[in-house]
Amino acid sequence: MSAFGVHEHSADEDLRTLFGQSSAVFATFTGPEHVVESASPAFLVAFGEDREPDFTALLDETYRSGESRTRRDVRVVLGAGPHEAFFDLTCEPRRDATGELLGVQVIGVETTQVRHAQRLTAEHRALLEQIARQAPLSEVLDGMARCIEELAPEELLVSVLLADPDGRHLRHGAAPSLPAFYNEAIDGIATGEGVGSCGTAAHRREQVIVTDIAADPFWDDFRDLAQQAGLGACWSTPILARDGGLLGTFAMYHRTARVPQDTDLALIRLFAGTAALAIERHHLDVARQAAEEQAEAAREALAEAVRAERELRADAERRADATAELAGQMRTAAAEQSGSPHPERCQLGGSTGCASPAEIKVADSWGDSAWGCAVHVEEVLIHVRSVFIASEELGGLGAYVNR
Ligand SMILES: [Zn+2]
Repeated sequence: MSAFGVHEHSADEDLRTLFGQSSAVFATFTGPEHVVESASPAFLVAFGEDREPDFTALLDETYRSGESRTRRDVRVVLGAGPHEAFFDLTCEPRRDATGELLGVQVIGVETTQVRHAQRLTAEHRALLEQIARQAPLSEVLDGMARCIEELAPEELLVSVLLADPDGRHLRHGAAPSLPAFYNEAIDGIATGEGVGSCGTAAHRREQVIVTDIAADPFWDDFRDLAQQAGLGACWSTPILARDGGLLGTFAMYHRTARVPQDTDLALIRLFAGTAALAIERHHLDVARQAAEEQAEAAREALAEAVRAERELRADAERRADATAELAGQMRTAAAEQSGSPHPERCQLGGSTGCASPAEIKVADSWGDSAWGCAVHVEEVLIHVRSVFIASEELGGLGAYVNR
């Protein structure tokens, strides 16, 4: 018992419930045609109408040999639907007081639930493995829904809706057997009191069993839709995270009005728990992927910043080198030209003039030359492409013009 007085069901317990109780069947037959003389009701339900070839063969064999025969897991198809039953059967000859063979009698134990529970256990394990492998959520939920629909003893339709992060709306998750128009109409419904079975279950965070959609006020707004889809009952269970947060809803629909049995409730608990694992795993995957993308974006931004900084520094270094080289050239020129006749003042000050002493002679490729101060010479050398320091060593401008 939990602190709230509600019995906590473990998955193991639920699986045990699903193994259920096996019922016994009994019947006596007369003559080589195996006419039924007496039979238990359970026998008539399973073997009453069209006799399975396997079963007829068993009766024939027993009658011919006069010896008892046992066969395990004889399969019987029930009614017109896809549902089946399995029996372990023991067939014995019946004789009168003189030892004359009258017919055969059959005693059997139904093994359907055991077989189904074994298959269910195997399917459940496969689902858990799929979740652990990080298969896409839609694939896991779809597979789960189909597995339950196949293994359930009666026709049912499974639906899983996924809660938005704020828990206010439910989105389509998986419902492979519900009609598309129904799934589209349900996609995005609000959670709230009286919004069908699922909206209400999500809102209340507790199981909502609607046994008869036709008569239930929760279905007032969806009754016509349910009728169009041929749905008679809907049992919905909230899928909750370990921290109690709403992950979605797990619903079983039935074609007709129906009240859940213990085995149904066990099946629901088992798979609502499995769906919770799958959805939580998915959320973790999504969060991790987002974090990885964010980290990658941050790494790229950082790399870009480092690249840009490196370029700026390289550029600054190139400029510094160029400036140092120019300064060196200007110093050399000033030293060389100091002995040459030159004007006293810098000629490169423009309209405002410059009072600094002329130190360096510059020339351009058209043959003009001028003397300037260090500041103005540097400025003109940097900004006017065709200007260079006039080198006395090379014979001045003449040497340049004539080369
Ligand atoms: Zn100047």
